[in-house]
Amino acid sequence: MAVHVIDEANRCLNCKKPMCRQGCPIHTEIPKMIEAFKDGRLEEAGQMLFENNPLSLVCSLVCNHERQCEGNCVLGRKGQPVHISSIENYVSDTMFERIRIECAPKNGKKVAVIGAGPAGITIAILLTKKGYGVTVFDSRDRIGGVLQYGIPAFRLPKTILERYKKKLLSIGIKIRPNTTIGGALEIRDLFRDGYQSIFIGTGVWRPKKLGIKGESLGNVHFAIDYLANPDAYDLGEHVAIIGVGNSAMDVARTVIRHGSNDVTLYARGLKSDASSHETAYAKLDGAKFEFGKAIVEINDDGPVFRDVLFDEEGNKTGYSEETRQIYADSVIISISQGPKSKLVSTTEGLKASESGLLLTNEQGETTYPGIFASGDVVFGAKTVVEAVAYSRIVADAMDRYMQENSGSDRG
Ligand SMILES: Cc1cc2nc3c(=O)[nH]c(=O)nc-3n(C[C@H](O)[C@H](O)[C@H](O)COP(=O)(O)OP(=O)(O)OC[C@H]3O[C@@H](n4cnc5c(N)ncnc54)[C@H](O)[C@@H]3O)c2cc1C
Repeated sequence: MAVHVIDEANRCLNCKKPMCRQGCPIHTEIPKMIEAFKDGRLEEAGQMLFENNPLSLVCSLVCNHERQCEGNCVLGRKGQPVHISSIENYVSDTMFERIRIECAPKNGKKVAVIGAGPAGITIAILLTKKGYGVTVFDSRDRIGGVLQYGIPAFRLPKTILERYKKKLLSIGIKIRPNTTIGGALEIRDLFRDGYQSIFIGTGVWRPKKLGIKGESLGNVHFAIDYLANPDAYDLGEHVAIIGVGNSAMDVARTVIRHGSNDVTLYARGLKSDASSHETAYAKLDGAKFEFGKAIVEINDDGPVFRDVLFDEEGNKTGYSEETRQIYADSVIISISQGPKSKLVSTTEGLKASESGLLLTNEQGETTYPGIFASGDVVFGAKTVVEAVAYSRIVADAMDRYMQENSGSDRG
């Protein structure tokens, strides 16, 4: 591993205008980090990565590198790009425990962070550094959000999230697990208890439905529910997955690892919506794909499809008359998620779009003064690095808000 990473670092051309950095949604200083690594200044390289992106260790494993840093590396035009993700992973993983998080002296102000996913973790770290007292609330028992309860362990080892938890606790962040805001505690209780500003990073956890007959049957499950705890399910041998996005690939690969032998993903269109990397892995693991299938209903025997008809250019022209029953023990619907509405329904003045996503200005301030939001609950199902990148902007806006409104009583 070490030799491989050093070889990769030696291939970096240290471009004057690094396209890799431009292709990275959080503009990681990739060549500088690689230079520090090559010079043996590993701690500096690790610090650089963490300062820019507190979730660098996670991003090194789960970002879509082929479309971002590595996809933009100039060496990739004629050959293989530098394997930047391996270098980032090596540095972030090796240095994680040694990263210093310098925090300003406590300023006496408190912030509530609702949701311990990538957005909430980023805000918690950045505001603690600025001297705020941060408490993180999460409905679940462990931190990480989708990192913990969505992305399978074979892609993101869960020990990483334990290491993050230790890091958060080490700088004085308080964590309240198993606490849903909008349940017994509401946002007004948080303001009453002296939190000057509140951050919402609750993600998207309500599975989108197909809106067809059969979705409530006992052999049918939603992807996000399944991935949260695959051990709770007995799916049988033959499993049909409806959808071909990245989450569907995670479902297929998890189902296969849990022993089902015949796993097929069904798509309306003609190609996979997932990254080529994830699609290739799903195929390698043994998942099969069927394209041009429009689901009509699900019954106790499995899903029923019509064929989607296409012209020569691949444009959809209609559907076949006849339907086809597929025999499957279980059907998993994986067609994305939308936000839950608990916070909006319990907080007058907090407004959401028709699809339930929180409305914010460019700095992440919601329609309720003092409440900010970012991540998937604002933008819909996106990516870890995007949640972190936007949360950096929002942390600064929350800081400004609290400085300008210091002393105001929200209770
Ligand atoms: C299966 C799957 C695989 C994915 N794979 C990748 C990948 O490989 N790479 C990538 O970059 N992105 C991936 N994503 C997307 C990425 O994980 C999300 O974009 C990211 O996690 C969003 O972060 P977030 O903090 O906004 O929300 P989340 O990660 O959803 O975290 C929200 C947190 O808020 C908590 N919460 C919700 N409501 C409340 C409430 N009322 N009170 C208290 N707590 C609450 C939840 O329990 C959760 O812990 C994947 C998504 C899925 C579903």
